[in-house]
Order: sequence, then C-alpha cells, then structure tokens
Amino acid sequence: MSYIHDIIHRVEEQNKNQPEFVQAATEVLTSIAPVIEKNQIYQKWSLLERIVEPERVNMFKVTWIDEAGKVQTNRGYRVQFNSAIGPYKGGLRFHPSVNLSIIKFLGFEQIFKNSLTGLPIGGGKGGSDFDPKGKSELEIMHFCQSFMTSLYRVIGADVDVPAGDIGVGGREIGYMFGQYKRITGHYEGVLTGKGLSYGGSLARTEATGFGLIYLVEEMLRDHSDSIEGKTVVVSGAGNVAIYAITKAQQLGAKVVTASDSNGYIYDADGIDVEALKDIKEVKRGRVKQYLSYRPNAKYFENGCVWEVPCYVALPCATQNEMDIYSAKTLIKNGCKAVGEGANMPSTPEAIDAFIENKILFAPSKAANAGGVATSALEMSQNSSHLSWTFKKVDSELNKIMKNIYANMNAAAIEYGAKDNFVVGANIAGFLKVADAMLAQGIV
Ligand code: NDP
Repeated sequence: MSYIHDIIHRVEEQNKNQPEFVQAATEVLTSIAPVIEKNQIYQKWSLLERIVEPERVNMFKVTWIDEAGKVQTNRGYRVQFNSAIGPYKGGLRFHPSVNLSIIKFLGFEQIFKNSLTGLPIGGGKGGSDFDPKGKSELEIMHFCQSFMTSLYRVIGADVDVPAGDIGVGGREIGYMFGQYKRITGHYEGVLTGKGLSYGGSLARTEATGFGLIYLVEEMLRDHSDSIEGKTVVVSGAGNVAIYAITKAQQLGAKVVTASDSNGYIYDADGIDVEALKDIKEVKRGRVKQYLSYRPNAKYFENGCVWEVPCYVALPCATQNEMDIYSAKTLIKNGCKAVGEGANMPSTPEAIDAFIENKILFAPSKAANAGGVATSALEMSQNSSHLSWTFKKVDSELNKIMKNIYANMNAAAIEYGAKDNFVVGANIAGFLKVADAMLAQGIV
C-alpha cells in the first residue's frame, strides 16, 4: 500500500542514523497495513506521520565525579513518545550501547505494548550510555542523583513515570527516587519498581518474567499444548530471565540455560535459580560463577545459546540477539514456540522464519508487557495509598496476560492472519492509540 510505503520511506529518510528505530517502525507499519487500508480516516488525518514522531525528545548532560576524583560526563535521554492514552510510561536503560536510536525504538514499541495491557499509559523510554558494570556503590549513587537532577524537570506522577530496564534495578530506582524527592519536595509515585518500604508493589520484580510465562502458557494452551515437561532455553541472566526461569520451572518445565554477554551456562538437570539469583542479584557477578554452585553444569565462553535443542525458546537479554542463523538452528532442532522476554530480540529475518515454519511466536510488545502492566498497578496503589498482596498483584498480572493473548489472537484472526501474533499485537495495540489520537484532534 503506497501510504504505508511512503511513511516507511519518510521514516528512513528522517532517521538515517537510527537503524533500531527504523527497524521497529517498519515492523509496526508493515503489519498494520490491513487496518489502514480498511479505514481511510487514518490517512485522511495523517495519523501515521504523527505516530512515528515523538511528542518530545529530551537529551541532557549528566556529570558526576568518580572515586578517583575525576569528572565524568555521560549523555541522558527521555523520549516522550505518545501520551494519547495516558501519562508517558517506560523504563530507563543504563548501558554503554544506549543512543537515541535505541531509546526511540524502545519508546515507540512501548506505545503499543502499553496500549495492549488495557491500562491508561502512554509510551516513553529513557536512559544513559553510563555503564554500571564495575562501578562502586557511591559512583552508582552519584550518577543516579546527577541523572535525576536533569530528569526531574520533565517527569511527574501524572506526566511521565519511568521504571527500570537493563542496568536499572531497585537500587538505582531508590537513588533516583530519593533525589527527586529532595529536589521537588514531593513524595509521589513518579517512578515504579520502587522498594517495598517506600511505595513499591509486591510482584513488580517478578512481573516481566512471570508475565512472559503466563502468556506463553496461554498461547500453548490455545494450541492444545503446555510448557509442562518441556525443555526451555533462556538467554540473559537479569531480571527478566531469572523470573521467567522461576515461573517456567514452577509450571513443570525444565530450563537448561542462562547467559550473559560473555557466555552461557548449560545445566542438564535444570537451572538452579537460587544459585543464579545469588550470583546476579547479590554478588552482581557473571554466569560463569554458576559452575562453583553446580560443578556438573557446563560453561560456553562466547557460545550461542540457541544451539541448545529445546521445545520453547525465550530470548530475555537484548535487541537483535536472535538472528536468522539462530532461528534456523532452533527450528532444525525441533523448537515449537518462542516468547520474547527482551525487547525486539529477534531480527526481522528471524521472525519471518518462525512464522513461515509455523512456530508459535509471541512478540515482545505482548510477551513482556507484564512488567509495565504491573508498574501501572503500582501507580494505582500509590495514588490510592494502598498496598496489595502478592497474590492479588500476581492474579491481576495473570488476567492481563491472558487478556493480551486473547486480544492479539482476535485481531490476527479478524485481519486474516491467524496465528501471526506480530500482526495481531501490532493491530490490537495500534487501534486504541490511533482512535484516542483522532478523538483528541490535531495536537
Ligand atoms: P538486566 O540488566 O537485569 O539483565 C540483562 C541481561 O541480559 C544480563 O544478564 C546481560 O548480561 C544480558 N545481556 C545483555 N546483552 C547481552 C548479549 N548481547 N548477549 C547475552 N546476554 C546479554 O535487564 P532486564 O532483564 O531488565 O532486561 C532484559 C531485556 O528485557 C531488555 O531487552 C529489556 O528492555 C527487556 N524488558 C525488561 C523489563 C523489566 O521489567 N526489567 C520489562 C520489559 C522488557 P551482561 O551482564 O553481560 O550485560
């Protein structure tokens, strides 16, 4: 369709140095083509031109002093992409690879993911090229305080509510919350992923990983299958990976791998998740150290985790970690389902291979939406000054994930793409935002 092609071309031309953003926008635009064709009103009001442009891009300097007394300078970002259905919501990523392209791709994806949750939250994302690895506790605190000293101007409980992402967990959120409160004097739910003693929600830590498994299990159940008794391969060893492994094992699966950017571990007896938590959450170490807990496990330096045969594959590390070669290897080895815990971990070619080979493929904007959904539940608890039980939050999360599956499945069927959940998730996420934008006029 020429309108879609024109917009993709426009995105490519205007964002020449932003390959990740162009990749994310192209995927969404291509898969919503049937909706745009059927409803001329979106073209009439130039909806696509408007939706691919962030409402605001904040970029700022973050200076801090390291333990050696040297001044360090990093770059901070907060992209406020779309607020049609609620305040901006999306995580902060601290990783040396962070740049405007990465933050824009994540913010763009967040619009549709947040819409899919059914909750009133718009899309945003932020972060910095700061590398937390190897930094002392004090350096982390000073960086977080300096980052918030610029960020506080553009966020607020009803404006924009950041959360964690790669390199940003409870510790960093705590330091940023403290600094926000010190500067503004406001004790408000301006960040989610907070500690339980100051407004955090039970089950937020577990939410993305648990939600991923709830959605994958629902997708399998709908195809008369289940994760129980299946071999599962997981990449990553961070927040998402750890709780995906935990929930998959609770449901009777055998998870045999975890990885970091140095290599992966293979444990034929099933990953000992308590050992992994001790390494990553307490010692902040490397997955290689797993061998000292389970000497029978194997460690593969620089190995590709997708070479391990499995029934279900769960990429939970980072964008574009699953290329076409990895996808073909998984398919050859009998993989039947893929659930994306990380954001955009599969390349477009890998996704095409999964869909052509009838692998059940749950795309990230649906499969990892449990984290942001539970963040929205944290916002509700904060604004009503209540704390829900773990059971209540977990049960809400389970309902939300089942609902996301039902909505993306229904959209895929309605638009003639049964079992293509990329199309289903993009259409279901797009419709609500697009209609809210139309209703609010040209703003
Ligand atoms: P963490 O920082 O907790 O963990 C990231 C993990 O992935 C680390 O073990 C890291 O290893 C590993 N990793 C990073 N790059 C690579 C690589 N190239 N190859 C292998 N492993 C790698 O982050 P999260 O678990 O929070 O986030 C993981 C993904 O999930 C991201 O894409 C994020 O955007 C997404 N996500 C997270 C949500 C959340 O609630 N936390 C919500 C929704 C999505 P290393 O230590 O070596 O860098």
